[in-house]
Amino acid sequence: MDTKRSTIPAAEEILGKYYRVLDHGFVALVDYMGSDEAVEQAARVSYGAGTRKVSETRGLIRYLRRHRHTTPSEMVEFKFHCAMPMFVARQWIRHRTASVNELSARYSLMPLLFYTPKAEQFELQSRSNKQGREGGAPAEVYREAIERWERLRADASDTYRWMVEEDVARELARIDLPVSMYTQWYWKVDLHNLLHFLSLRVDPRAQWEIQEFARAIAGMVKRVAPLSYEAWVDYDLEARPLTRAERDILSRLVDASSEAIAARGGARVSKDDMKQAGLAPREVRELLEKLQAPARPDFELDLARFRSAEEVSAEMYQAVPGDFQ
Ligand SMILES: Cc1cc2nc3c(=O)[nH]c(=O)nc-3n(C[C@H](O)[C@H](O)[C@H](O)COP(=O)(O)OP(=O)(O)OC[C@H]3O[C@@H](n4cnc5c(N)ncnc54)[C@H](O)[C@@H]3O)c2cc1C
Repeated sequence: MDTKRSTIPAAEEILGKYYRVLDHGFVALVDYMGSDEAVEQAARVSYGAGTRKVSETRGLIRYLRRHRHTTPSEMVEFKFHCAMPMFVARQWIRHRTASVNELSARYSLMPLLFYTPKAEQFELQSRSNKQGREGGAPAEVYREAIERWERLRADASDTYRWMVEEDVARELARIDLPVSMYTQWYWKVDLHNLLHFLSLRVDPRAQWEIQEFARAIAGMVKRVAPLSYEAWVDYDLEARPLTRAERDILSRLVDASSEAIAARGGARVSKDDMKQAGLAPREVRELLEKLQAPARPDFELDLARFRSAEEVSAEMYQAVPGDFQ
């Protein structure tokens, strides 16, 4: 039967396919409702009759995002099926403005699948960012970490299997499974809150593993609502708000008139001047970062990373312990 709902060919192409993330994880767009047109449609209602020709869809969407008129983008919905290590799930679940239904380890047997970072991701504690990593770890440390992880995971899996075989309740058998283990959920969220999630989680300050999931989801948003995605990159992701003191500093360097923006001849603002203007040392560093030429990120999906639902389901079932597959 033909649908009366609006569908987007680029989204239909990936619908229900499973995008590989990390070693055993995935993101699948299982459903969506609306697209850029739904944002426009909702906004036009709030603008009232007689304003239909005020702007093209793209111009309107960009205006809405620039001015943080966000409710029209709540009209677009996404539903994903995702599998991620539990430590990623703990970060992800902090985003409260979504609906979640997680695999129950009280009800179901857990697939014994664990995340193992690749060598290039196995880095040392960052000196500049207490929540980060930097610089490769020695190869022998990585080798030993793999050995230790394998021992620990084999032990945890063995205990889990044994308890299940002894008919211990699943809700108890699971209590010492490590947070490297994969869990799964359905995650439904609207476009506005999804873009907020993406702004925080594709950011280099987020943990690399959750960034990987966020990048995959950004690629899916690009397919469902390309104009909203573009406006998000331009006005949120790659935008940097200026504080009062920062604007003061910049106005000493450039002369903005209604005709043009011109550099003030010979003007220079030293780090001391910035401190005088009220910037803390960290804010000075942040301002210098803000003024670097922006990147143009691209979250294009690599279609070769898609697998079928059947293939993914078989992998999960094979990892369920013993005769219970
Ligand atoms: C790099 C990074 C490091 C982090 N480190 C830590 C950490 O060390 N410890 C830690 O506990 N968390 C940490 N977090 C989690 C962070 O503090 C947020 O909880 C998480 O990013 C979710 O953001 P949010 O609340 O804006 O999102 P959502 O929960 O999706 O909420 C979206 C928006 O809705 C509004 N909102 C939602 N619920 C409420 C409410 N109850 N009251 C008022 N407004 C509400 C807010 O405006 C909010 O911004 C970290 C996050 C990042 C990105």
